[in-house]
Amino acid sequence: MKKYDYLIVGAGLFGAVFAHEATKAGKSCLVIDKRPNIAGNIYTEKQENINVHKYGAHIFHTSDKEVWDYVNQFCEFNNYINSPVAIYKDELYNLPFNMNTFSRMWNIKTPAEAAAIIAAQKAELGITEPKNLEEQALSLVGTDVYEKLIKGYTQKQWGRPCTELPAFIIKRLPLRFTYDNNYFNDRYQGIPIGGYTAIVEKLLEGSDVMLSTDYFEFIKENADIASKTVYTGEIDKFYGYEFGALEWRAVRFETETIDMENYQGNAVVNYTEAEVPYTRIIEHKHFEHSDSPKTIISREYSSEWKIGDDPYYPINNDRNNELYQRYYERSKEDKDVIFGGRLGTYKYYDMDKVVRAALDAVRAELA
Ligand code: FAD
Ligand code: UDP
Repeated sequence: MKKYDYLIVGAGLFGAVFAHEATKAGKSCLVIDKRPNIAGNIYTEKQENINVHKYGAHIFHTSDKEVWDYVNQFCEFNNYINSPVAIYKDELYNLPFNMNTFSRMWNIKTPAEAAAIIAAQKAELGITEPKNLEEQALSLVGTDVYEKLIKGYTQKQWGRPCTELPAFIIKRLPLRFTYDNNYFNDRYQGIPIGGYTAIVEKLLEGSDVMLSTDYFEFIKENADIASKTVYTGEIDKFYGYEFGALEWRAVRFETETIDMENYQGNAVVNYTEAEVPYTRIIEHKHFEHSDSPKTIISREYSSEWKIGDDPYYPINNDRNNELYQRYYERSKEDKDVIFGGRLGTYKYYDMDKVVRAALDAVRAELA
């Protein structure tokens, strides 16, 4: 007899949703995580009466009504709308790319004027079918916006020239010819009141949880602990990098508590020029209008990843996607292991897509 139905590796969003649904269906789950805390990258911690997003700013947004209703069972969301600003040298612009951005950039007022400038800049370049991020960005917003707001930021974030990056990354951002600074097009958006960690705590109720426990050590002594494994760590590591290592971008945060009420007046400020070493500064209190007399900011630095570092962003270029495909094919042979989440499927997933994928996976499993 196995002690548990499922060993779930990773107490992040994917693992926690899977555990919750499986437990509800009467299955027993052991959730392990190598970190000392639950919640994976959405972990938040209260300091100075401010919920600090320890692994980077997280805004929940989705158009998937079932996912929105699902997460709302576990907490109430506030009405936060993400509206970052971008600083390029001594100029300040609204994001995403919209009429506020264009008006500031070209001193114009109407959508027709903005569209005409972009069309003229695009015509000069003669791009018909964008092959990479640079060509995609240039053909969407023209040269000025690309040079000031995209090129430096993207190269800092990904550590590669925009010509070597896939076009889909830039398509994450809305482009609109209205005066609307909402960073997302989704129907639903907000920040959980009380932080994300509380959601994951609720999801994990009824499961056994072991923290500071690395799967590869744990499994040596506990090979028979569960009938099946749900693995949300890196897939290539699971297979001992037998086909080679997938590449990731790592992120590092420098967090500072400052004795002032309001440091930058916005939750997210991007620094888009290449010369500023960080990509953005997050001021955590503005995600939820905290009335703390102090403020906490995090400068976000993007860096090269090497085996052993925490992986953050998959680098979905052709080389890595082909390599992932080999691991994926290999994983089909392991019928007792379910791979999931950002790391297990090597996908640039937002939280709502992770919840959706976890619900689909657990339903398929329990059907
Ligand atoms: P994770 O949260 O990474 O969880 C995986 C867990 O597995 C980790 O806790 C890890 O410690 C554990 N683990 C790995 N290997 C092992 C092992 N060998 N043994 C034991 N445990 C192991 N999404 C949005 O929707 N909105 C946003 O604003 C947003 N902002 C983001 C900002 C940043 C900087 C980043 C990096 C991501 C952002 N995301 C955002 C994406 C979001 O973080 C992910 O979609 C989500 O957290 C993924 O959940 P997961 O469970 O797949 O992975
Ligand atoms: N981006 C940019 N300038 C900005 C913000 C974003 O060029 O000021 C580009 C960059 O290439 C980034 C992509 O848009 O990787 C997607 O941005 P998003 O904010 O979705 O990234 P994430 O929140 O996942 O870090």
